[in-house]
Amino acid sequence: MITIYDTDAIEDIRSRNAVQPHRMKLFRNALFKNSGSWNDALAVLPEEARGDFEKSIIFQCLELAERHDSEVDGASKLIFKTHDGHLIESVVLRPKTGRTSICISSQVGCACYCSFCATGKMGFTRNLTMAEILDQVSQANRMVKPEGRTIRNVVFMGMGEPLLNTEQVLRSLDFMMDPKLFDLAGSRITVSTVGIPEAMELFTQTYPNVHLALSLHSADQEVRQRMMPQARVFPLERIRETLVAASAHGRVMIEYLMLAGVNDRDQDFQALTDYLKGLPVHINLIPYNEFSGSSLRGTPQPEREQFANRLKAAGFDVTLRYSMGSDIAAACGQLVQHKQKDASV
Ligand code: SF4
Repeated sequence: MITIYDTDAIEDIRSRNAVQPHRMKLFRNALFKNSGSWNDALAVLPEEARGDFEKSIIFQCLELAERHDSEVDGASKLIFKTHDGHLIESVVLRPKTGRTSICISSQVGCACYCSFCATGKMGFTRNLTMAEILDQVSQANRMVKPEGRTIRNVVFMGMGEPLLNTEQVLRSLDFMMDPKLFDLAGSRITVSTVGIPEAMELFTQTYPNVHLALSLHSADQEVRQRMMPQARVFPLERIRETLVAASAHGRVMIEYLMLAGVNDRDQDFQALTDYLKGLPVHINLIPYNEFSGSSLRGTPQPEREQFANRLKAAGFDVTLRYSMGSDIAAACGQLVQHKQKDASV
């Protein structure tokens, strides 16, 4: 079956129904620029072509299984079910100041097993397809349209390691940035990685305008390995070489999740400043969304602020992030983990 993201197959259907190119432009605009319904898109086609389009193309490849809206801020967590019955998560963020954003998943589960992550406790099931990645954005756009909003920022920070699903993730980036389709600026897209050097190099060479975010979380090799087993495969020195090369294309975002007594001590601060010295990076200090099944605790806010101020005094650009959607378990993997537990009792 063909999805609405399969442009070659849709061109074949267009051609066999002799639909004029300007009608196809209206069809694409209805779907991607105006976030219209399937009926809105079909309505712009000649009547005699609609039946073939309708029976040949799948409009949505993910089923929205649940929606949880935060009562404390503008976050909505969406749980989608794939055609083969797996659950994935996306989070729509509506910050008071700033653009409507979506955090999307790139895999079902994850093979990286980071100790602080609910998805990491599930293990890996499979990669998402390009259509499944894009459908999270399309469905979110249709959801926020009645609010007068459009998704302006996309971050790959949901379930999965995007650079272990490079082919489908990179194809989805082409689609997102295509002026005829989603028409998102590259600077509005961020791909976050635990640090897979070869894939990071391919990514920055292919998409110099798209933001790369490294989930560093510690600049001490031993601490980092305990937090992120994948760090054993790609040690910090190798990742630093990649950061140096990537910085030729612009600033790299550094994600630093703050865990009490793990990576927020004086020696962690020193290791971090030594590691990043001389690199054009922007550091995001992230609060930890605690979840049952993990004994880790987040660094309290006053200490996070102090850590941020020390980094600023050392000359780094720093943003202290605040948690959104804490009442809806918005951190990656938390709700799906709850649902899987519910299903197994
Ligand atoms: S933090 Fe990201 S890379 Fe690590 S286990 Fe979770 S989803 Fe995978």
